[in-house]
Amino acid sequence: MSKAPLVTVNPRYILRAAIEHAARIVLAGGVVAYPTETMYGLGANALNRRAVSRVFEIKGRSPDKPLIVLVRNRRQLKALVREIPPPARALMGRFWPDGLTLVMEASAEVPGEVLGGGSTIALRISGNRVVRSLLDVIRVPLTAPSANLEGRPPPLTAGEVQKQLGDRVDLILDGGRAPLVIPSTILDVRQEPATLLREGRVPTDEIRRVVDVGHISAGKPCGLVTILMVCTGNTCRSAMAGGLLKKMLSAKGISQIRVLSAGTHAVEKDPASLWAKKVAFTEEGVDISKHRARRLTSDLLGKSDLVLTMTLSQTRHIERMGRQFAQKIHLLTSFPSTGSKDLGDIEDPMGQSRRVYERVFRQIRRELERILPVLVKTPESWLP
Ligand code: AMP
Ligand code: MG
Repeated sequence: MSKAPLVTVNPRYILRAAIEHAARIVLAGGVVAYPTETMYGLGANALNRRAVSRVFEIKGRSPDKPLIVLVRNRRQLKALVREIPPPARALMGRFWPDGLTLVMEASAEVPGEVLGGGSTIALRISGNRVVRSLLDVIRVPLTAPSANLEGRPPPLTAGEVQKQLGDRVDLILDGGRAPLVIPSTILDVRQEPATLLREGRVPTDEIRRVVDVGHISAGKPCGLVTILMVCTGNTCRSAMAGGLLKKMLSAKGISQIRVLSAGTHAVEKDPASLWAKKVAFTEEGVDISKHRARRLTSDLLGKSDLVLTMTLSQTRHIERMGRQFAQKIHLLTSFPSTGSKDLGDIEDPMGQSRRVYERVFRQIRRELERILPVLVKTPESWLP
């Protein structure tokens, strides 16, 4: 089969014709891949049984695993649920349109296929302008599973969607690169306290300010995202960067992003270098005294959602470990841009003076401060 057409839609200046083309496909029962505020999604008319079944077929997804559905407004939502429980109203007011999926009792309107055999529906209004424009035109709810084959990594770019599903979907709307795969938080709001089904973009602590949240039903929180910082020895740059990023995330109350570090040529269990420890501590109170170096492995790369390197040669090294990792590797100084990879290496301070370590630490801090908002939010900044 031939590859699906890939249509570029700049989220800042939505291309009407592209949206209308996608809308016609959806309304005719087709399946379109599109960007959301979290990752790329697979869209079919959620009220069309056959179209929904195709989404399951395309993904190779088990029919008992329900799909999240996107709606354009609360009026549309109302038709899909038996009732909107009062805590749900409060949560929508506070968090929508971004990153929070609510589970409610489904109405008879919703085809059973969407619900995976259950009685509940998971709904969200998306913050992404591309899919919102699409929803405004189609005026039917849209399915929103990640646009990947089950078990494969969720796609952050239209190119990745095309690689995995290009010969199975009817159209791919290219809205630029997603910042990072932090899926939406999923909360069952049928009764109070609400039940957290998946940790995600909206932190549980923030939700707790609005409604009482009970235990995480699944036991282990899922939806965690891993960022891997890479340098050569994992005793200086990536050790400092990892420690600092952890601290910055925890200061923002972000618990969904896990930070690891590794070195392309690390000696297992080496401690951080003396100056790395001293400088990280005096500059920013970052304690990396317990850090132990870890050698970069394919396994570690496979488990990571985003890999940030200090130099271009490290990037090349990782690319040689497997082409499948190429999409998630970025030079720290170039992230999130995918094209220009020549923005510069972060120099290796190994064996040099304290002043060099300070300079390197400050450069890393500047870069991390720059990318933090991109990691955490801002769908509009996905543009390549
Ligand atoms: P995915 O489609 O793989 O991106 O993930 C969607 C997630 O939403 C899965 O973990 C589903 O189990 C979950 N989900 C979808 N619909 C429901 C529902 N009605 N009740 C509970 N969880 C749901
Ligand atoms: Mg998925």
